[in-house]
Amino acid sequence: MGADNIPVKFSVVSMGRVLIIGAGGVGRVVVHKCAQNPEVFGEITLASRTLSKCEQVKKDVRRRTGREIKVAAVNADSVSDLVRLIKKVTPDLVINVALPYQDLTIMDACLKAGVNYLDTANYEPPDKAHFEYSWQWAYREKFRKRGLMAVLGCGFDPGVSNVFTAYAQKHLLDRINYIDILDCNAGSHGHPFATNFNPEINIREVTQVVKHWSNGRWVKTPPILDQRSVHFSFDYPVVGKKESYLLYHEELESLAKNIKGLKRIRFWMTFSENYITHLKVLQNVGMTRIDGVNYEGKEVIPIRFLKALLPDPAKLGSNYTGKTVIGNVMSGTKGGKSRSVYIYNVCDHAESYREVGAQAISYTTGVPAMIGAMLMMTGAWKGKGVFNIEELDPDPFMKALNKWGLPWKQVEFRGKLPK
Ligand code: NDP
Repeated sequence: MGADNIPVKFSVVSMGRVLIIGAGGVGRVVVHKCAQNPEVFGEITLASRTLSKCEQVKKDVRRRTGREIKVAAVNADSVSDLVRLIKKVTPDLVINVALPYQDLTIMDACLKAGVNYLDTANYEPPDKAHFEYSWQWAYREKFRKRGLMAVLGCGFDPGVSNVFTAYAQKHLLDRINYIDILDCNAGSHGHPFATNFNPEINIREVTQVVKHWSNGRWVKTPPILDQRSVHFSFDYPVVGKKESYLLYHEELESLAKNIKGLKRIRFWMTFSENYITHLKVLQNVGMTRIDGVNYEGKEVIPIRFLKALLPDPAKLGSNYTGKTVIGNVMSGTKGGKSRSVYIYNVCDHAESYREVGAQAISYTTGVPAMIGAMLMMTGAWKGKGVFNIEELDPDPFMKALNKWGLPWKQVEFRGKLPK
């Protein structure tokens, strides 16, 4: 029995119950994919701040899959609100696809109520544009003692990028020396400027000083908006050459720690000139500021006001065309010989929209979250404590990616990357 006299639930359930928190672009995909998988997800509840958004997803899921889901309003900044909801729903697992600001309150609520936890982005304090795993890694002992499992960063990147690495480590390379994660969105949404996931979180991420891991230390380089930023043109499969910028991304932190002997890990993301120009102007005029500004006697946080003006990423899908290509180039040795492999997925915006009513960025995040949840619910992934997914068996995940809409390809890499 747990601290609140609620029995701690363990996995291996059929027709399990899942509680999904966050009815944004990613939440919509997770709900649809869970609904497509009734053997594992027997009962689905979607809860978010705005009930009407949950109701819209419920309607769409009913139309597409014929399944009924439950919905609820919740303030995920409040542990007591969350515990009340969890006690009512009694899920086997909570999937957190709200915002990184809510990670710790939802983890606290899971501990109190005795439920396993999964998310797709690491904790970030609202008043500081900074993310790192230390806050969530500090929960390891608490989850372990409680006999519960928390899986962190189970989207695409972080998420599938970690699984590709674990798979290469298990099957393809005896030793991994270098990892380059390359994230390309070659799609077009038809708006002059929009972000593909929550604008506030996205802009905070891409305006930061860049870091990558090299020979045992973090090397800093200028942010993508700086003239001196590091970028190069990479020839992506299917979509061709795209300018790719060095960026700091959260999986670098866990992979640098968990992949023993790694010499270097970098993350690259494509940005169009149009995106960079818009963001530069917004930054220069102060619209990306995260501190409060007094405007006519009221405090306004510019980046939040900007979010209210920009297109809602959850609604970008209807006119989105083109593809995303995201994958890892991993180099090292196999049987004493040098080897370089590239594993990647290609996802089509319009096809994603047809299937679940969301663009490919939400799709490539939501599908892995459902897969991670399925592996936890069926007991294929078991453990007590807090885990990054490269610490878990990649094989069932790799198999499930092919089945659930994100097929991957593996090739010997013969291209060029910056030294
Ligand atoms: P959205 O902004 O579209 O959705 C977030 C949802 O969470 C909204 O519906 C919002 O409610 C809800 N929410 C926010 N605050 C609260 C709160 N206090 N209580 C209850 N609900 C709340 O974001 P996305 O769907 O684009 O992204 C979801 C998550 O996925 C983010 O954490 C993002 O960082 C992560 N992500 C991860 C990726 C990966 O590959 N690993 C890639 C892309 C995203 P409301 O509508 O009322 O504002």
